[in-house]
Formats: sequence, C-alpha cells, structure tokens
Amino acid sequence: MAKKGDMLYAWTNDAEIKKKAELGGAVTAIWKHALDSKAVDAVLVISKGTDLYDAKPVLIKDSKELANTAGSLHCGTLLLPKLIKKYMDGAANMKIGVTVKGCDAMAFYELAKRKQINLDNIVMIGVNCGGSVSPVLARKMIKEKYGVDPDKVHKEEIDKGQFIIEYEGGHKGISVDELEEHGFGRRSNCRRCKMKIPRQADLACGNWGVIGEKAGKATFV
Ligand code: SF4
Repeated sequence: MAKKGDMLYAWTNDAEIKKKAELGGAVTAIWKHALDSKAVDAVLVISKGTDLYDAKPVLIKDSKELANTAGSLHCGTLLLPKLIKKYMDGAANMKIGVTVKGCDAMAFYELAKRKQINLDNIVMIGVNCGGSVSPVLARKMIKEKYGVDPDKVHKEEIDKGQFIIEYEGGHKGISVDELEEHGFGRRSNCRRCKMKIPRQADLACGNWGVIGEKAGKATFV
C-alpha cells in the first residue's frame, strides 16, 4: 500500500487505455478507477477537438469514454478552473476529478480563496508541464520553421528541450530556445512559469523523472 510522499513508476494494465496512452496511461487508469468506484461523479479532461490545435474540455461521467482522452496536447491554452466556476457551479454539487497543469492548480486555489470554487469537491491530478504554445502561432511556426503543412501533423511533444512534431512522412525536432529566439515557441507566461510540477495537487504525475527502460512507458507519481 502506497502512502503519502511515496514516489513510484506507474502504468496501466487496461488494454484499451494502453493503446492510446503516451506514457503508460497511469493518469487515465486512476480516473477510470475513481469513476467506477464513485470517488468522483465526473472527470474533466482535455481532449483533441477538430485537430491537434484544438484543445477541447470534456466532462466524462462514463469511464468507458476515458480511453479516447489519453495523451497530451501542447497547443491548447485552456484554464479548467474557470470553466468549473462558470459552467459547473464551482463544483458546488458535484465531485469532479481534474487533470491539472501548474497554472490550473494555482487558479483553483485563487478561486477557492474568493469562494468561487468548492475545493472539497475537487480531486486534482497534476501533470508536469514544459509549456504550451498558442494554436495560431503553432500553425505558423510549423509552416515557417519546420517547413511542414500544419494539417499533416498528427502528434507534437516537448521533450528534452525540443518541440518535436510527427507528420505524414517523418518527424522533426527544433530546440525550444532556437524557436523562441525567432519569436515562436512557448507563450511568454510559460517561459516565466515556476509551477511546472504541480506538487500542490492531490497527486503529482508526469514523464519527468522516468529513466531507464521505463522511459516513455511509465508515469512518475
Ligand atoms: S508552463 Fe506553467 S503557465 Fe505554461 S501551461 Fe505549463 S503550468 Fe501553465
């Protein structure tokens, strides 16, 4: 039995989640258990909308729908607490699980201080975050710096200081520093961010810290 403060590598044994997962699927599997055991009424996650540049918030009540939301998007700039405040009565009547970046976690605490969110009804899983890119700028950057049609890109990630894209016919990475020198790359608030690992969440997870044979296949908790 794990206890508070323990650190471990985790991955899912759910075949459906495993197919879509990028880093072992541990976060999605935890939410599946939370929904199935009724620890939460719903889970609010980010999912891919019409394309890679369209981050769409989805409120999930049936754990069977979770597998489709596994993985991460870096070209979306949503702040989830604001949506809960505005459209879900600040979690007044519903227990909601939320996957959060550092800035989401900070926003939760700020809204709670102002009594606009009921933190007793929020369960947070924090994920490490290297930054996000404005969707409009991401399209321009991929076209001008990578020489690739943005609509042909099916995956992007920030890894080891590089923004990497996978597209029909190949993959390409350019250092984030170089991109930012040319006016592209992460949003300016992400460059200043000091909350890249949201330790104030109920669980802090991510791919950072996973080394050896499990790198890319497990989540650090
Ligand atoms: S780097 Fe910081 S501000 Fe930017 S999305 Fe991540 S947590 Fe939010």
